[in-house]
Amino acid sequence: MNKFTKEVMSVGEMASGAKLTVPVYSFKSENNSAASVYIQANMHGAEVQGNAVIFQLLELLQHCDLRGNITLVPYANPVACNHKNGEYTLGRFDPITGVNWNRMYHFNQSMIQPFAEQYLDANEADIRDDFKRFLVTELDQKLAHNIWGITTGQRIAYQLQRLAHQADIVLDLHTGPISSKHLYCPEYAQASAEYFDIEHTILIDNDFGGAMDEATFCPWWSLQQAFEKLGRNFTMGKGAFKRESFTVELGSQEQIDLDVAKEDASSILAYLHSQGVIDNQQYQPKAMTRYACYLKDYKAIYSPMGGMVDYLAEFGKPLAAGEPLARILRMDNYGDGEALHNVSVDEDVIPILHFASASVNQGTELYKVFCNYFKL
Ligand SMILES: [Zn+2]
Repeated sequence: MNKFTKEVMSVGEMASGAKLTVPVYSFKSENNSAASVYIQANMHGAEVQGNAVIFQLLELLQHCDLRGNITLVPYANPVACNHKNGEYTLGRFDPITGVNWNRMYHFNQSMIQPFAEQYLDANEADIRDDFKRFLVTELDQKLAHNIWGITTGQRIAYQLQRLAHQADIVLDLHTGPISSKHLYCPEYAQASAEYFDIEHTILIDNDFGGAMDEATFCPWWSLQQAFEKLGRNFTMGKGAFKRESFTVELGSQEQIDLDVAKEDASSILAYLHSQGVIDNQQYQPKAMTRYACYLKDYKAIYSPMGGMVDYLAEFGKPLAAGEPLARILRMDNYGDGEALHNVSVDEDVIPILHFASASVNQGTELYKVFCNYFKL
């Protein structure tokens, strides 16, 4: 049986002096021949299912044949996790600054070109090790040697990112509001999407927007592009350069389901088996039709009017152009106007998630849908 270690990482202090801490669980593989893995959950306060998935992963990994090191971090953001208002958890945005908690990670594009020039003729192992060290050192500088200080959210994000940069594979566990499962996958790692038991994949390119997945794969993708420009062949995802990061959206916020979490954990283990991190044949991806679209075709539909929404469209089912996604009830119009309005789009779509509340303002993001989708 594999043993794990548990540490408590300090990520900040509250006004009262109370420490903000995050639990960090680690499995160390004895032969450590495969890629290393970092998995975190609950960066957004209401997105709690990932904690249950990490519980199930900790249970299952104790009985796996481990080939690589695995670090697991539930409750990644203690501020967001405890950010309640009435019966609801908020915790998508830092309440002080209004910034999305998952847009505070760090990537310095300007360090790529000088590194590529300096390491143009270096061997692959040196490039991998030194580039990793470079990324971690940059965060250490920001955390410890920065005369201007950093925000509460950056302090949490950089500490997590420090752990993530040391791994080869990064999984950031989130959920939608009311949502189907879906996966954000870098375009170059598309082949890996078929190992997750997730029917919908959004393929993202090399644009850094501040999220954890981008913060951990963009530096490597950018390094590959810089090497290619300088005439050096350098392919990510092969041998020493296995670098993959995903945001795994596990369904809806504000709920955990331990049975579903076990299925989600098995799905993650099927992916880790495919990457050689564990050697356990019983974890295989399920046969299913997997749809994908590019990020530019993952569209939000905003409410054309205020009102009360009856969400009609089922997640994951292709919906023909013109078919109603939702109908909006306007009781103020009853008797002397139109009380019911259908919302539809003139394009074939697959609905993926919708807003969590039935009452919406004009302009509220009602649904997010796949357009121009294709089978993986
Ligand atoms: Zn999220």
